[in-house]
Amino acid sequence: MSDRKLALVTGGSRGIGRAVCVKLAEIGMDIVFSYQSDAPAAEETERLCEEKGARVLKVQADVSNSDQCDRLIAQASWFGGGHIDVLVNNAGITRDGLTMRMKNEDFDAVVNVNLKGTFYMMRGVSRFMIRARRGRIVNMSSVVGVRGNAGQLNYAASKSGVIGMTKSLAKELASRGITVNAVAPGFIETDMTGKMTANARDASLAEIPMGGAGRVEDVACAVAFFAGEESRYITGQVLCVDGGMAI
Ligand code: NAP
Repeated sequence: MSDRKLALVTGGSRGIGRAVCVKLAEIGMDIVFSYQSDAPAAEETERLCEEKGARVLKVQADVSNSDQCDRLIAQASWFGGGHIDVLVNNAGITRDGLTMRMKNEDFDAVVNVNLKGTFYMMRGVSRFMIRARRGRIVNMSSVVGVRGNAGQLNYAASKSGVIGMTKSLAKELASRGITVNAVAPGFIETDMTGKMTANARDASLAEIPMGGAGRVEDVACAVAFFAGEESRYITGQVLCVDGGMAI
């Protein structure tokens, strides 16, 4: 059995999740990551992590489905020889629109993936971490969850909820040697921000004190900090990686 740590990352096929997988592989962890439907992108993540020397398992799983989350966790635990050291809840979606026109299904879809998916994963993985009396959980929130955003009420609800869950679980698990923190990216160049309208994009970029969008690696470094030993005495925190947007 490998003595490398095992990290489980949701939504690792593209964007920030892929960068997190590669960064954690680079600092010596084995990787289990999930994806929703983009199998070729998942293969590319697998290849990039293997290049860093990691053992890798990719699993198709919809995090909005609690049974599929449980199956993903079981596969990760098997791959890790019974332990899961790090959980990164990264999978997320947007369904933007002004509140008065927002459909129930657009609200539900975002909450089901971003908020309930994070809950299902934390509930399942925390059992393993409690048994091991160690662990790191890192949740992907957003600057939108910190300060709100017009046209993203559903997304803001989910990402503020992630912060509330992060702080609550941090309190539950602190005495067991497990930390729970959140990273709140601002505007990062990925497929998610690529589908914004030109107007929405310009308005967001204009709000960044440091000027310009962030890179996926900027977020991955913050996740790696919370996933590693250096952050052992930090829990329940929200770290904005946003070029100053949330100030
Ligand atoms: P992205 O490029 O759209 O990638 C989303 C990832 O999530 C993909 O791997 C996708 O899998 C996966 N995914 C989507 N729905 C899923 C589901 N139901 N079950 C399992 N996996 C699912 O997004 P991103 O920009 O990297 O965002 C990653 C996280 O950062 C999200 O939580 C997002 O809210 C947050 N965030 C992003 C920004 C930003 O500026 N980009 C800012 C703040 C917060 P497939 O490839 O199979 O579709």
